[in-house]
Amino acid sequence: ERLDNNFQFIEVGRVDPHKKNIHTRKHKFVEIYEPFSKNQVENQSHRCLACGNPYCEWKCPVHNFIPNWLKLVSEGNLFEAAELSHQTNSLPEVCGRVCPQDRLCEGACTLNDGFGAVTIGNAEKYITDTAFAMGWKPDMSKVVPTGKRVAIIGAGPAGIGCADVLVRNGVRPVVFDKYPEIGGLLTFGIPEFKLEKSVMTRRREIFTAMGIEFRLNTEVGKDIAMQKLLDDYDAVFMGMGTYNYMKGGFPGEELPGVYDALPFLVANVNRNLGFEKSPADFIDVKGKRVVVLGGGDTAMDCNRTSIRQGAKSVTCGYRRDEENMPGSKREVTNAREEGVKFLFNRQPIEIVGDGKVEGVKMVTTRMGEPDENGRRRAEPVPGSEEVINADVVLIAFGFRPSPEKWFDDHDIEVNDWGGVVAEEEQQFKFQTTNPKVFAGGDMVRGSDLVVTAIWEGRQAAEGILDYLEV
Ligand code: FAD
Ligand code: SF4
Repeated sequence: ERLDNNFQFIEVGRVDPHKKNIHTRKHKFVEIYEPFSKNQVENQSHRCLACGNPYCEWKCPVHNFIPNWLKLVSEGNLFEAAELSHQTNSLPEVCGRVCPQDRLCEGACTLNDGFGAVTIGNAEKYITDTAFAMGWKPDMSKVVPTGKRVAIIGAGPAGIGCADVLVRNGVRPVVFDKYPEIGGLLTFGIPEFKLEKSVMTRRREIFTAMGIEFRLNTEVGKDIAMQKLLDDYDAVFMGMGTYNYMKGGFPGEELPGVYDALPFLVANVNRNLGFEKSPADFIDVKGKRVVVLGGGDTAMDCNRTSIRQGAKSVTCGYRRDEENMPGSKREVTNAREEGVKFLFNRQPIEIVGDGKVEGVKMVTTRMGEPDENGRRRAEPVPGSEEVINADVVLIAFGFRPSPEKWFDDHDIEVNDWGGVVAEEEQQFKFQTTNPKVFAGGDMVRGSDLVVTAIWEGRQAAEGILDYLEV
């Protein structure tokens, strides 16, 4: 029953969607959250106080019109909510699933002061999922074609954000990606228990119908030259991500049984999606003792993928305490519920083994002074060494940019840490040192979030529209 008063937030507490039962969660690669029902989403959205100066909007990297679409959905105006939600976000149903809301929109909600934030992420997911299921499509009827064409390298969130804004402004985007499906890390990185792959397949169909052309299985620099794109198109956008895996720099990293996180996750997705080229590509941890090193989203995804593959045990070692972990708190809770054991304040100093991995030597750390990013440093405690037994070690220390050799040939500069130089604060937003080339997402800002990549892609599209004078 829908309650209808201004003190809804007192009478109706915050409710999160149900999670699937733990047996399913430990064995199946399916999303763990059940969708909200119509009644739930209306009651939860109605808790929004409609603050005059909504902090949630400011904290949301794409500045979604959150209170406005919460009001629309609470009144049952689903299609209007979907249309409004798409004015600021190219993939609202994806952000609703994978944003770390506790640090973004929901972390800024006024109701956090004792009442529990509005479930913004789940409302955002519900709006688009349900509108699509009911046949809603983005309204393209007023778009006037300009005759301009832009090549986009990378079908990840940055490339998609850019293509979405361009096509809505009458510019034809042609998106090149070396992978066989769109999404970048949304498809070949983030596992199905956070984001089922059908979400991106549906998106490909919607975007194609909107006029975005995808050329998949096509690597720029190999299957097609950058020069060809520069010759054939009015501008080029690069949203190619960051793919150099960071190493620990300690002995034993080369031992058989030690893997980088992303190849492990990608091999798992490829098997589940039927893209596996050879069974030898799959990294199987069934029955093994797995140690995951790292404390971000990638580490959590490795933990939970290992559980689903049937690992004998999964232990996650992180050098700071739980409070200072970079990953989403929600995902740490989910990992723990599924049986992952956490060792906080542990720093690996060596991977030990004779011809193959046998364990990870770690020291205990204590939290020291904050570093330049404000996060407290982990300092080793002398004499605290111990070995954690392991058959497989997965290293999830993050990513560094992976600039292509051909950047130099086209005057595309990178900074001292390898990120492409392209800034928001200039005449044409996110233009690189080559005036015809724009860039955004992880390759510019370093590995970050889906929603920040979408924002930069969308902003770069505005830069391109200004540059093309359309
Ligand atoms: P990407 O998503 O990396 O896309 C780049 C695309 O460019 C790829 O498809 C690639 O194939 C293509 N490409 C590269 N070079 C070429 C070329 N030469 N020719 C053609 N195509 C090319 N963020 C969150 O917000 N929430 C999460 O829960 C979360 N979990 C994560 C889990 C994992 C395991 C990882 C690795 C990351 C996670 N992230 C998460 C981060 C997020 O996925 C990235 O920040 C985001 O995908 C970056 O978007 P992008 O478009 O810049 O790059
Ligand atoms: Fe929150 Fe992310 Fe949606 Fe913004 S895009 S409202 S931060 S879930």
